[in-house]
Amino acid sequence: MIGLVAATVAGRQGCERLAAAWPGRTRTYQGPVKEALAAAFGECEQVVAFLAAGAVVRLVAPLLSAKRDDPGVVTVDEAHRHAVALLGGHAGGANALAAAVGEVLGAAPVVTTATDAVAITALDTLPYPAQGPIAAVTRAVLDGERVPLYADTPWPLPPLPLDHAPAPGTAPPASTPAAVWVTDRVVRPAADATAQETGTADGTGAGAENGTGAGAGTGRIVFVRPPSLVVGVGASRGVGEQEVVELVHAALDGAGLARLSVAALATVDAKKDEPGIVGAAARLGVPLLTYPAQALAAVPVPNPSAAPLAAVGTPSVAEAAALLGAGPGGELAVEKRKSAMATAAVARRRARGRLAVVGLGPGARDLLTPRAAAELRRASVVVGLDQYVAQIRDLLPPGTRVLESGLGAEEERARTAVAQARAGHAVALIGSGDAGVYAMASPALAEAADDIDVVGVPGVTAALAAAALLGAPLGHDHVSISLSDLHTPWDVIERRVRAAAESDLVVTFYNPRSRGRDWQLPKALSILAGHRAPDTPVGIVHAASRPDERTAISTLAAFDVTTVDMVTVVTVGNTATRVVAGRMVTPRGYRWQS
Ligand code: SAH
Repeated sequence: MIGLVAATVAGRQGCERLAAAWPGRTRTYQGPVKEALAAAFGECEQVVAFLAAGAVVRLVAPLLSAKRDDPGVVTVDEAHRHAVALLGGHAGGANALAAAVGEVLGAAPVVTTATDAVAITALDTLPYPAQGPIAAVTRAVLDGERVPLYADTPWPLPPLPLDHAPAPGTAPPASTPAAVWVTDRVVRPAADATAQETGTADGTGAGAENGTGAGAGTGRIVFVRPPSLVVGVGASRGVGEQEVVELVHAALDGAGLARLSVAALATVDAKKDEPGIVGAAARLGVPLLTYPAQALAAVPVPNPSAAPLAAVGTPSVAEAAALLGAGPGGELAVEKRKSAMATAAVARRRARGRLAVVGLGPGARDLLTPRAAAELRRASVVVGLDQYVAQIRDLLPPGTRVLESGLGAEEERARTAVAQARAGHAVALIGSGDAGVYAMASPALAEAADDIDVVGVPGVTAALAAAALLGAPLGHDHVSISLSDLHTPWDVIERRVRAAAESDLVVTFYNPRSRGRDWQLPKALSILAGHRAPDTPVGIVHAASRPDERTAISTLAAFDVTTVDMVTVVTVGNTATRVVAGRMVTPRGYRWQS
């Protein structure tokens, strides 16, 4: 029984609507709310209270016993905008109840149990189309069922709070109760072949394949359609749009391929304005890619022919365009098929992974950009130094695979990240500050070929975090120099320090000093001192934005380098830099006015 409790007119209306929607399943408790809620709490398996969440917390707190025994409690606000699963999300069924209340009242269900909140967004906001009983499978996840994820190829998906199937390419067993399956193939269970009719005559692809019937006979399966197919088309002048659409559908259906996985149509440049082809692409809702005849002619295909060679200058349009459209590693999935005036062939793209190179900022959470946080949530694999992973672990959704390693394993981290992306995953390679500044971006991108997508997310680098603490030391031209001679010979470093000294640049030293590297910083400072006054300001920032942050301003003459360690940057002013009210200020180019 679901107990309903309200204190206001709007609340009572809400009760009436729920009672009407669920005949025989509800009991409305009248009278003062304290007593009404206590009675409902004691007598019902579930309670919906049209009261402020805070009020319900206070009223039910003294009544709580054990998670297993307490009813699930949902609260709804006066305006019926939110249905909050307050208590008993799983055991009490409050998460599911909030969704059900939301459906009746048009309220947004608010579910705060961690994995469920993620599951809901995950299944509803996948970057690729999903078909099948999404609500039912989401509900299964909500109810704590183990829902497996199957994938023919590991397309770059966000982490899903699902159990990964034992091996890629494995299909769910016929008896599977609920699953998510990433595949561009249409599954036709033998038991229910007619329900798998894959299209309608209007050619929109709105057949069973696109509806909830996709899982009929194989339990509740949500199919996720990766954009893995490119259909090459050729046609004689004047071909009808309907003929092209039907041929494309026939090519896909004949091979059991999902229409929603079609990423593009492709053809020869000469046909880029052919109405039947342009119209077919529009009907299918995909872009039309076109290629020069010479480019198509260079693609080896199984079924070249003389007709297109004479007409447009290539022995293959459909097969060659499909393969070019699919890109490197693409393979022909359906050889050329013909209708009266058109040809079509289908190629399957190699899964294209995604590598996000993400700067985490200097340390403080509010200096990590929202975009960096979004990329971390989107990646199913995170690669990085263990101490940086620790910094952001709480941002990673359940199901994220974390590949962390210790100091020094840079090359290996870079290789791992690229290899994971090449395998088709969505990968985030993380680094402190900006991941491109003395960090992982360059070794990774030096490894990467053009078979993966790369996205860079800038971060607040140490020099900027330090400058903000010091004042305005970077107000004019400035340079960063790493004093680490691990990868760079000292004479190169020294040459750059000299050049900075001679050209009066403000200098920020990264990697300034470690236990085994103690003479480089004094040496660099002495070179600068050859061109700058002894009272030139020097800013020292240790652990910017972290709990042990320390900032000091000294001068070239007085600076004690033993205060410097590897978590420090040192910023040396130029000849115009001054200290004003305890802050380092470099004027913007004009002469200093004192
Ligand atoms: N990618 C990083 C730099 C890596 S090199 C960035 O963009 O900031 C490592 C050096 O950066 C350290 O030796 C230190 O000099 C500097 N550094 C990194 N984080 C710092 C912080 N929070 N405070 C001060 N210096 C820092």
